[in-house]
Amino acid sequence: MTAEAKTETLGFQTEVKQLLHLMIHSLYSNREIFLRELVSNASDALDKLRFKALSDDSLYEGDSQLKIRLEFDEEANTVTLTDNGIGMNREDVIENLGTIAKSGTAEFLKQLSGDQQKDSRLIGQFGVGFYSAFIVADRVEVETRKAGTPTTAGVHWSSAGEGEFNLTSIEKAERGTRITLHLKEDAKEFASRWRLESLIKKYSDHIAFPVEMLKPVEVEEGEEAEGESAEKTATATEYESINAATALWTLPKNEIKDEDYQAFYKHIAHDFQDALTWAHNRVEGKLDYTSLLYIPAKAPFDMWNRDAPKGLKLYVQRVFIMDEAEQFLPLYLRFVKGVVDSNDLSLNVSREILQSDKAVESMKTALTRRVLDVLVKLAESEPEKYQGFWEEFGSVIKEGPAEDFSNREKIAKLLRFSSTHDTSGKTSQSLDDYIGRLKGSQEKIYYITAESYAAGLSSPHLEVFRKKDIEVLILHDRIDEWMMSYLNEYEGKSFQDV
Ligand code: ADP
Ligand code: MG
Repeated sequence: MTAEAKTETLGFQTEVKQLLHLMIHSLYSNREIFLRELVSNASDALDKLRFKALSDDSLYEGDSQLKIRLEFDEEANTVTLTDNGIGMNREDVIENLGTIAKSGTAEFLKQLSGDQQKDSRLIGQFGVGFYSAFIVADRVEVETRKAGTPTTAGVHWSSAGEGEFNLTSIEKAERGTRITLHLKEDAKEFASRWRLESLIKKYSDHIAFPVEMLKPVEVEEGEEAEGESAEKTATATEYESINAATALWTLPKNEIKDEDYQAFYKHIAHDFQDALTWAHNRVEGKLDYTSLLYIPAKAPFDMWNRDAPKGLKLYVQRVFIMDEAEQFLPLYLRFVKGVVDSNDLSLNVSREILQSDKAVESMKTALTRRVLDVLVKLAESEPEKYQGFWEEFGSVIKEGPAEDFSNREKIAKLLRFSSTHDTSGKTSQSLDDYIGRLKGSQEKIYYITAESYAAGLSSPHLEVFRKKDIEVLILHDRIDEWMMSYLNEYEGKSFQDV
């Protein structure tokens, strides 16, 4: 490279432009999530470096103290986030900060309606990521260098979020990424120690790495009147960690508050809403692992997309190994988010190894049971919440009896049906409800499959049952008939198509 750095201007992928536009307009009341997203990226970058350095510790470049730093400048109206993680080279930057790699993005964008409230919910399910910086900033700069590359291999990216971005080669001594947000006039509030610190505590307290800020300068008593000038002249260079920086799942349950669980959920799931419920377990003995599994409140936009991300975050002895480890849960539980941290697997475990590993197989069996148990418990203790779950995820659960024969009784307990008993047509009756209402010695669970609830209800086949006052379940989801072919009985009573 010559001394004079060449600047190149590139255009965002069309989808990025659309998403940026929508995000800026519909996420106004959720602006603060930008920080969670950027910290989460920084934390991912640190995780990735630590993982790569397992096999090549020269990548640490002599500095293995992984951390995130957060700075602000009230006068310049900027916020800066620095990490010494894996960093990016030029191609990475173009690929990651110029396009949206997610499959189904175009589909997703089509679903957006222009209605702010509705769209902000959808965007939450989509996961806004890096581009959320533009909710609060009218210009964003990224300086980054990939770990292990020469200091001259730095890249400077900048954009006003309006269709284009600029790239320049730079010299960068430290590996990793530094993001500077030039805040919009109406986002000045974020250039504040108090505001940033409380957001970190709220959303990122229990990520595994420290988030550091400069120690506030202490003003001696009696100097208060000159506070401002004292603050300006003092050159504070001491950083302090402002978050707990212990991976949440490693803490004992009784030390974790519900808010902590919810915040951690939002961090890993990039969700705006609280999770419905979760299960946190430490298993010791033949197998040794910790799991923290969450049931989201809303289905992701791409739940029916085959390539949509699914699976858990896998850690081995606290070291992040991979995202989307699909081998720990069956497909019909693909909506579950969470972490599994194993002490049995090897640090260089690969996806191929996971597929045939005995320990993984046993963990899958146990984790599946945990999820089913937590759902059964939710249905019993909070039926309304469970009904919400059923409306979002019921059709995925219905894949269960076919996929997971050994748990079909438990899965059947989770199913909800419409029925002649409740003529509102709501799909809210469980098999236990049905059995609870049985009269006399009825040995069968009667059902009918139909195009719709109304069509089922008016079927001539029901006549005789109505006369005898026998309840019939009305199955009107396309998948129901197929599902019933995998269910023979429940609680000793066999299913009978009327
Ligand atoms: P996601 O995190 O879901 O992949 P984002 O939009 O948040 O989506 O980020 C896009 C990509 O940009 C990341 O996957 C990562 O490859 C890259 N990236 C973002 N921030 C950083 C960072 N601080 N360090 C290294 N890479 C980053
Ligand atoms: Mg991200």
